[in-house]
Amino acid sequence: MQIRNFAIVAHIDHGKSTLADRMLEITGTIKAGSGEQLLDTMELEKERGITIKLNPVRMIWEGKYQLNLIDTPGHVDFSYEVSRSLAAVEGVILLVDASSGVQAQTISNLHLVRQLNLAVIPVVNKIDLPTAMKEETALQLMELLDCQEQDIVYVSGKTGEGVRELLNTIASKIPPPKPEGSATRALVFDSFYDSYLGVVAYLKVVGGSLRRDGRYNLVATKAKFQAEQVGYLQIKRVPTATLESGEIGYVATGLKQVAQCRVGDTIVELGSQTDALPGYRTPKPMVFASLFPEPEYERLLTAALERLQLSDASLVFEPISSPALGAGYRVGFLGLLHLEIIKERLEREFEISVLVTTPTVAYKTENDLELEPWVDLEIVAPKEKYGQIAKLASSARAVFVGVEYFADQVLAKFEAPLSEIIVDFFDRLKSVSSGYASMDYQFKDYRPADLVTVDLLIAGEKIEALSQKVIRSKSLSLGRETVERLKQLIPRQSFEVSIQAAIGGKVIARADIPALRKDVTAKLYGGDVTRKRKLLEKQKKGKRKMRLLGKVEVPTSVFVELLRR
Ligand code: GDP
Ligand code: MG
Repeated sequence: MQIRNFAIVAHIDHGKSTLADRMLEITGTIKAGSGEQLLDTMELEKERGITIKLNPVRMIWEGKYQLNLIDTPGHVDFSYEVSRSLAAVEGVILLVDASSGVQAQTISNLHLVRQLNLAVIPVVNKIDLPTAMKEETALQLMELLDCQEQDIVYVSGKTGEGVRELLNTIASKIPPPKPEGSATRALVFDSFYDSYLGVVAYLKVVGGSLRRDGRYNLVATKAKFQAEQVGYLQIKRVPTATLESGEIGYVATGLKQVAQCRVGDTIVELGSQTDALPGYRTPKPMVFASLFPEPEYERLLTAALERLQLSDASLVFEPISSPALGAGYRVGFLGLLHLEIIKERLEREFEISVLVTTPTVAYKTENDLELEPWVDLEIVAPKEKYGQIAKLASSARAVFVGVEYFADQVLAKFEAPLSEIIVDFFDRLKSVSSGYASMDYQFKDYRPADLVTVDLLIAGEKIEALSQKVIRSKSLSLGRETVERLKQLIPRQSFEVSIQAAIGGKVIARADIPALRKDVTAKLYGGDVTRKRKLLEKQKKGKRKMRLLGKVEVPTSVFVELLRR
């Protein structure tokens, strides 16, 4: 059998999962007409149409080729995972939706593909659509890749048109894996926790071979294990005695935590001095938010986060407590999508609903200097949208790096502070480009930031839970906006209440809530005593949902509203 290892890279929704399904049907790996996207496993992925978990699959083509396909995640939060799964293949299908043309994720993936020197097969997809712009899309690809018209394959993942030809092109154009030395080395490109098998790693054997019952260790984490099972995936796990050099498959390690067997690590024979494969790193959380459960769920939340961490090595958390919101956790995420996934998994798998505070980036201090993370930002849009995009970027403190044109599209490159990108930048980009622009970003470095802490005072008392660290130039508008919103949210009290925003004790914005004049019982004309008592009872009950901040009673919902944005 000749081995061909490949991945499909595409912008989200360009049809990667659909095409993969057609390949599985045409190669007879699954029966036609099951109608399901088989590579997307988690329920959440199916609903959102995004791929989070990587599932390799083995197909046999023409009785001669063993095609190993890896489905990569399509989101910037998981770009490290993408880079490691691309390191496990020799070629990629660069899939572009003919109804939208090349978009930003296609290009950011292409950077990774080039760094790894992989073979590229340009593919124009969705040619069945009446809105398909076949020629324009092909032209974009030709300019981008510097290739010829005859290099391009046209397919419809929906109807299956062109997919056989594509399978033949994979067999002819993607080179076979080259064994690298005789010592056993395997690259882990995904790992997850299974309650029966322990940690299962998806891997590529780069040199030597991997045997069932063999004893191995991971170079970076130094964890040791005995291979309880090795094999490959053909939708289901298919156990084998060995996995040979060049093959993609899995090993059941029996380890208890994915943190012991991380993406990018190298498996070697136990105790051998074989070098690690390049490219390993531990992903660092880039975005932080606090999670606050209802008080009765505190213990459950702790257990749930610990459980999630078994299978998600990039999730970090530490307990915090706030007088306004009670006990909770400060949690680090790879990005906003990762945050949303965790929030949804807490709700679905553990039935815990949490309040999530406004996400912030990971600031840090070095030699008394405060630093903030910056990213490389790439935006792809029709040429004529460039002016608007440049304006938007500069309002987000972005620094211009350069532009490239391909066919009717522009690729604009910037460096920008992550804090400006994570909040509503993408929404604003969509609106200035009438929905045509797409973007992608990668962490670049830490740079000095002029940060200040904006404190909030209610009736003269500082409320820690509402303090926020921001860039100085944004502090005044943030202070004003928060004070105004609090004024709307806090109910009137029996006395006048001042709301102030301050930086280091200096007030930058203020609003006053006038005193409530009438007594609630006044409207009862003094008469009916039972009604009066009932009303007072009701008031008392209402108070349970209130928090006393100094002398001011504030409903908990105020914090929820304020932090929710
Ligand atoms: P992914 O995000 O790249 O995995 O994209 P999906 O495979 O989930 O496809 C995104 C959407 O495009 C879905 O609604 C698919 O049904 C649709 N789609 C995918 N391939 C084709 C195609 O060849 N033709 C048409 N008309 N629609 C397609
Ligand atoms: Mg998909």
